[in-house]
Amino acid sequence: MSIQWFPGHMTRARRQIEEKLKLIDVVFELLDARIPQSSRNPMVDEITGTKPRLVLLNKADLADPDATAEWSRYFRSKGLATHALDANAGTGVKEIAGKAKELLKEKIERQINKGMKPRPIRALIVGIPNVGKSTLINRLAGRNIALTGDRPGVTKGQQWIRFGGELELLDTPGILWPKFDDPVAGFRLAATGAIKEDVIHIDEVACFVLKVLVEQYGSALGERYGLEDLPQELPDMQAAVDVLEKIGRRRGCIVSGGHVDYEKAATLLLRDLRSGKLGRMTLEGPDLTE
Ligand code: GDP
Repeated sequence: MSIQWFPGHMTRARRQIEEKLKLIDVVFELLDARIPQSSRNPMVDEITGTKPRLVLLNKADLADPDATAEWSRYFRSKGLATHALDANAGTGVKEIAGKAKELLKEKIERQINKGMKPRPIRALIVGIPNVGKSTLINRLAGRNIALTGDRPGVTKGQQWIRFGGELELLDTPGILWPKFDDPVAGFRLAATGAIKEDVIHIDEVACFVLKVLVEQYGSALGERYGLEDLPQELPDMQAAVDVLEKIGRRRGCIVSGGHVDYEKAATLLLRDLRSGKLGRMTLEGPDLTE
């Protein structure tokens, strides 16, 4: 489902999260492990305030494991706990409760010292559309929950989902808006399928992706499409178009007159990338100069 984000929606989405924050102990900030920075809401620090937060790097099955390890180190260096998972297959999901407990260790110890029985940790999942919030909620619930409220401004009765006796999760996630004002983040979001291609043209997205793939994952790219002599880097748009053309020819994306159908080649490339057929790839690294 694509959401049109207007200032009114953003204000409402923010208010809804702030209401939910009152009910919970910990925020699970869901990011796409392939683009942890670009899939982050620009105001998430401000919106979640002082609530303890666990950064969940979802879709780790599609991301480069070395890059995921690097991102985890980066977030830890910023004082944020992280955990990588694949909500689709369920890998890494059962460890979430333990990670949350670790974050709230002092609070839980205080309760125990006062002779109280610690109650289950209450959590809220927040993240931009398509990052896997519903998938994770369904995983934790162990069943499919119809998320009719999956739209800012649409409210419904909220319920707690119990997970293993130690964790309770609000069944409606906090939906945050993606970055709008950073064109590179826009390309990365489009490349992973987080935003629709009617916003950015698919050929352009494919050329952007090719630049990253040639420079970071050249051998996997060459192998998949039988491309030899790939350059080490793509200095400009024309160089990317040339690679897209080669892929198109290899894969028979040809129109009458023998020309390459770039749109078809771009669609094929992006489909292969998103489904993991090209291998596990991460499209951005942390900015270590920050
Ligand atoms: P939401 O908009 O944040 O609720 O996102 P969804 O839960 O609807 O997920 C968006 C898409 O991502 C769906 O097609 C999911 O199957 C897929 N997805 C979610 N989590 C994962 C994951 O860990 N790995 C992979 N490969 N796909 C995932």
